[in-house]
Amino acid sequence: MAEVILKSVGKLYPGGVRAVHDVDLHVRHGEFVVLVGPSGCGKSTTLRMVAGLEEISEGTISIGGRVVNDIAPSDRDIAMVFQNYALYPHMTVGQNMAFGLERRRRHGSVVRSLLSPSYAAERRSEGARIQARVDEAAGLLGLQPLLHRMPRELSGGQRQRVAVGRAIVRDPAVFLFDEPLSNLDAKLRGEMRTELRVLHRRLGATMMYVTHDQEEAMGLADRIVVMKDGLVQQVGAPTELYDQPVNRFVAGFIGTPTMNFVDGTVERDGGGVALRWAGGRIPLPHCTALATTRAAIGIRPDTLVPTADGAFRGTVQSIEFLGDRADALIESHGVRLNARVPTNIARSLREGESIALGMPAVAHVFDGDGFRAV
Ligand code: ADP
Repeated sequence: MAEVILKSVGKLYPGGVRAVHDVDLHVRHGEFVVLVGPSGCGKSTTLRMVAGLEEISEGTISIGGRVVNDIAPSDRDIAMVFQNYALYPHMTVGQNMAFGLERRRRHGSVVRSLLSPSYAAERRSEGARIQARVDEAAGLLGLQPLLHRMPRELSGGQRQRVAVGRAIVRDPAVFLFDEPLSNLDAKLRGEMRTELRVLHRRLGATMMYVTHDQEEAMGLADRIVVMKDGLVQQVGAPTELYDQPVNRFVAGFIGTPTMNFVDGTVERDGGGVALRWAGGRIPLPHCTALATTRAAIGIRPDTLVPTADGAFRGTVQSIEFLGDRADALIESHGVRLNARVPTNIARSLREGESIALGMPAVAHVFDGDGFRAV
């Protein structure tokens, strides 16, 4: 079982930077887990600790039931794919893909040649086995026509595919990816994302993946780990994070376009609890337990719909047409609201004109400390 378990893992870099605090995470066998968060939140450090490229300052990491804190990267049964591909420029694609296993074979053969008289034959059959593994991985990734090319003769997308192929050939217990698609253009990134997802399903392998791009995380992950300032904010399936963000940070980080927030003060009277904001009073019927004096309503842009008697009255600042839908920016009493509306509705809107948007049935409420209130 290739599970990865992090228990109270922390990282303190020399010089006093606390990059990771007290991370608990259980990556299940065959699961695709994506660590996501803004730059500097500690996601690469976490992955590099799993890989053994950074020492673990606190806690334990185990892979496949074995604590690996003091085990060298080469003995952890992992394969890592980096943003910069890290291919050997003087080797062909095929040689690059075979490299890890060939190195092991050469190392092993020195020992075995002393112990076994039939080592030459064994060595040949191992060579054939490695070649078969390379061919299989090349087949999975459509790399066969490129096996004899040099890395400089490949596009960025092809190089990254070779780097993934090299990892597959090693048949590791766990695949680790550190922003592998960041150097590719947007279209290719989208295509590679789909390929990786399909590959994950076919291999059934445990994968941990780091990205700063929440859309990539949403598209790839079985579960997402959202990090901020070295702390895990929430762990959950993409839909769980989208529908039930535990705090305002996760709510604002996950989802495109970004969630709208309407800030105000909490009013309690005979009519129940409500949010008083610059544009009026919004009842919060399910928030009777709200303990803070300030709060915010979070509204997804695709749930804001123009309606004649809507709660949010304002002016259309801009409209961006995106094909089947459009993004309208509306200013309402000093609050900027993004509404994602179908194109046929957007066509009837005019920049500079008045508009009213209805309060959606599904809205999120965060207390004054940013925690989810309902
Ligand atoms: P992310 O991958 O989320 O962008 P990192 O894990 O690379 O973040 O970095 C987390 C924090 O640790 C940052 O504040 C970064 O500056 C710091 N950091 C990263 N590597 C080192 C290092 N080798 N020495 C000191 N501080 C580091």
